[in-house]
Amino acid sequence: MIPSDLVHARLQKQLRGQVKGSEPLARHTSLRIGGRADYFVTPRSVEDICATISFAQEHALSWRIIGNGTNILFPDEGVRGIVIKLGPDFGRIEIRDTIMKAEAGASLARVISAARAQGLRELDFLVGIPASVGGALVMNAGIPESAISEVVQRVRALTFDGKLITLERDDCRFAYRMSRFQEEKLIVIEGEFRLGRGKSWDGAALLQRRRERQPLGMSSPGCVFRNPPSALTAGQMIDQAGLKGYRVGGAVISAKHANFIINEGGATSRDVLQLIDITRSYVLKYFGVELKLELAVVV
Ligand SMILES: Cc1cc2nc3c(=O)[nH]c(=O)nc-3n(C[C@H](O)[C@H](O)[C@H](O)COP(=O)(O)OP(=O)(O)OC[C@H]3O[C@@H](n4cnc5c(N)ncnc54)[C@H](O)[C@@H]3O)c2cc1C
Repeated sequence: MIPSDLVHARLQKQLRGQVKGSEPLARHTSLRIGGRADYFVTPRSVEDICATISFAQEHALSWRIIGNGTNILFPDEGVRGIVIKLGPDFGRIEIRDTIMKAEAGASLARVISAARAQGLRELDFLVGIPASVGGALVMNAGIPESAISEVVQRVRALTFDGKLITLERDDCRFAYRMSRFQEEKLIVIEGEFRLGRGKSWDGAALLQRRRERQPLGMSSPGCVFRNPPSALTAGQMIDQAGLKGYRVGGAVISAKHANFIINEGGATSRDVLQLIDITRSYVLKYFGVELKLELAVVV
C-alpha cells in the first residue's frame, strides 16, 4: 500500500485547490460530528474536481462531495477516502435581467441577498436554510409552501467521468426533498434560476416562524426524517410518541421541533444512529409508519 503522505503529495500536485490530510469532518458539518477524512479537497475549478475523481478511481479511493454540511452525518471512524468540499471558489453569482446563475458553493443567504439587491424576491422563501446552492438542489430544499425546484430553470452538472451536462428542470426529477442528483453520481456545479415572474415572500415573517419552531443556533442537521404522505408530519408523530427530549449520549430529540436531533456536546455518530433507530421503531409501533431519512448518512 502507498503511504498516505505520498498519496497526499501526489494528489496535491495535480490540483490548484488545497488538499488537507486527516481532516476532522466534524468541522465541516452543522451537527459537529464525524471522524477524519483521509483527504479533504477544496477544489478551485471543475478541472480540479475531475482530477480528484480520476485520482480517486486510480487509487481505488471512495469520494464524496459536500456543500455546507447542514444535512449530513459522517461516521465516527471518519472516511477512508476523499471528501470534496465545494466552497467559495464555486461561489460565483451572476444576474442578467431576471436570470440568475449561481454556482454550487454559493450559500443560499448570498443568493437571496444578491437577488434582493436587484429587487427580486422569489427566493426569499429559502431564508434561514443554511445550505449551499449545490446541497439545496440535491436535497430540493424548501419549506411546506415551496421548494427550490419551483424557481430553478436548469442545472449544470458534472458526470463522474468528467462530462459537463446541462439538465432542464424536468430532467432533474425533483420531488419532495428528492432529486435525480441523489440517485446518480452527478455533481451539481451551477443552478440557473428564472426570477421576476413568481411569488414574492415575506422573508421576515418566514424567519420569525423558523425562530419560533426550530432550535436555531444549536448543532443539528435540520430535519432528520422526510415527512411521510400521511396526515401527521414526522415531527408530530415523534412528538406524540413522547420522544421530545429523549437522549442517547450527547444526542437529543429537540424539545422545540421533534424532527430535529441536537448534538448537545460530545454526541457521536453512533448516538445519533441509535436515536434514529429508536425513533423509527416508536413511530412504526404507534402509527404504523416507516420513517425515511432526509439526513444523508455516510457509512
Ligand atoms: C438549522 C437548520 C435548518 C434547516 N432548515 C431546512 C429547511 O427549512 N428546509 C430544508 O429543505 N432543509 C433544511 N435544512 C437542511 C439542510 O440545510 C438542507 O438539506 C440543505 O439542502 C443541505 O445543503 P448543504 O449545502 O448543507 O448540503 P450537505 O449537507 O453538504 O450535503 C447534503 C447532500 O447533498 C450532497 N451534495 C452537496 N453538494 C453537492 C453537489 N454540489 N453535488 C452533488 N451532491 C452534493 C452531499 O453529498 C449530501 O448527500 C436545515 C438545516 C439546519 C441545520
